[in-house]
Amino acid sequence: SRFARQLPEARGLGMTSQRARDRLIERLVAEGIRDRRVLDVLRQLPRHLFIDEALATRAYEDTALPIGQGQTISQPYVVARMTEVLIEHALPRRVLEVGTGSGYQCAVLASLVEQVYTVERIDELLRNARRRFRKLGLGNIRSRHDDGRLGWPDEAPFDAIMVTAAGAELEDALLGQLAPAGVLVAPVGPPGRQELLRVRAGAEGWQRETLAPVSFVPLLGGVA
Ligand code: SAM
Repeated sequence: SRFARQLPEARGLGMTSQRARDRLIERLVAEGIRDRRVLDVLRQLPRHLFIDEALATRAYEDTALPIGQGQTISQPYVVARMTEVLIEHALPRRVLEVGTGSGYQCAVLASLVEQVYTVERIDELLRNARRRFRKLGLGNIRSRHDDGRLGWPDEAPFDAIMVTAAGAELEDALLGQLAPAGVLVAPVGPPGRQELLRVRAGAEGWQRETLAPVSFVPLLGGVA
């Protein structure tokens, strides 16, 4: 594995973390994830390093888990599906992620594309995520402590933008930072009625698709 040398095994899994990841991949395939590039990255990336040690034994269950500060690391199926729909039509070169959280989704993206920019509003989460990126030798991630609803204007435009927290509507500032033919994937809507949206910037304006019902923590304003 690309990451194998840095990897302590997750204690208490009852099997090697590689075996646990292989099982997770079987499950994701059964649930409909098809993109080999995405499956290969999830098969290698040590999700147990993105959560607290006390929860590491649950790292390869297909479930969201708490990461502190009232936030969560997203469910592997959701990470896989959002990544798949982001790269489906073309592999983006530069990607912006809003909501670094644990850093896991960001690490998945960084394993697939040239450069990832990620913004997190909670400083403590961002510091933990940066430590993980260093530990895994992921050198193609730039991160920033800020309100990600504003995007990252100095680095725009982006070939793709992924939002990992749910806003009431799509953020105009983010749409404005998409490159021509760029794609944005975001959960949108109030708790209990969120949908995953994909927006593509085309010659005739925005093309908006509703992909699936989802459940995300809210996209909040300001920094903490
Ligand atoms: N991608 C993350 C992962 O793989 O762990 C998902 C983390 S969680 C579902 C969403 C994250 O978005 C939280 O860490 C939360 O603090 C962050 N967030 C919420 N509103 C934000 C905003 N306006 N700007 C940046 N981050 C935000």
